[in-house]
Amino acid sequence: MKVAFIGLGNMGGGMAANLVKAGHEVHAFDLASEALEKAKGNGCATYTNVREAVQGVDAVVSMLPNGAIVDKVFSDDIIGHAPTSALLLDCSTIDVDTARKVEAAAEAAGYAMVDAPVSGGIAAANGGTLTFMVGGTDAAFARAQAVLEPMAKAVIHAGASGSGQVAKMCNNMLLAVHMIGTCEALALAEKAGLDPQKFYEISSKSTGYCWSLNDYTPAPGIGATSPADNGYQGGFASALMLKDLRLAMAGAESSCATVPLGKHATEIYENFVEAGNGAKDFGAIFTTL
Ligand code: NAD
Repeated sequence: MKVAFIGLGNMGGGMAANLVKAGHEVHAFDLASEALEKAKGNGCATYTNVREAVQGVDAVVSMLPNGAIVDKVFSDDIIGHAPTSALLLDCSTIDVDTARKVEAAAEAAGYAMVDAPVSGGIAAANGGTLTFMVGGTDAAFARAQAVLEPMAKAVIHAGASGSGQVAKMCNNMLLAVHMIGTCEALALAEKAGLDPQKFYEISSKSTGYCWSLNDYTPAPGIGATSPADNGYQGGFASALMLKDLRLAMAGAESSCATVPLGKHATEIYENFVEAGNGAKDFGAIFTTL
């Protein structure tokens, strides 16, 4: 299959390389020449703009920073330039309203399109073990599976257009809330005189168990190995968590949902990032308690 890949950054670079490994002919484009060079080294054919990259392809995959860029790239350079037989897949994390708007424009122009944001970070992108949550019609999902599988541990049909982004924003809002709760419980245990390792042993087998506590323990030297054991380097940056929480707050507002803990988590990450901690793993909230 000929697949155009737009956006070859931390995530897209590894994803495009996995499509090459699966035997696809990958037509790559990124604004950054360094990213393009790396893609070339990984076996992609490189192009000087989006319109050329999407000529004659069977599918277009994008992995871009935000909704405004996705909207512009699809409106200006993909819709009306890729063949209408090409399946369009946006894997970026963006707001639900923009995802639905771009998909409606693509469908009006005769394309099938899905939103397919991912769970899993750079290691999962490089290792081909991302979880894709896909929004679109049954027919578009069936076609998307073949494109996404070489990059995936799981490909799940979330529902109609925009549902992948809804799943992503809800998942990451929940993740932020249970991470903050885990940090608070670990800090409280210690301050109240309980060895935090003992707390981990008990709560990870009790009703307090959750991914943040059991698999990504945010206190150094306690429980599961995580970025906490490496000075909160690597992992999932607090700035990216804040981006996802803001998307969830926008989604909550436009769907009139009440999300008091999501709102409070957003404020906590806002303060943390504004204090210069954006690059630190999101578990570093533990250090503020
Ligand atoms: P990144 O900034 O490393 O990569 C984005 C790439 O897009 C850059 O190389 C940039 O040059 C390119 N780009 C920007 N505008 C462009 C344009 N108009 N045309 C072509 N290329 C353009 O970001 P990333 O970490 O790879 O994240 C990409 C997306 O994946 C984001 O939406 C992010 O929220 C999501 N995501 C990231 C992670 C993570 O751990 N990094 C995890 C899950 C989801």
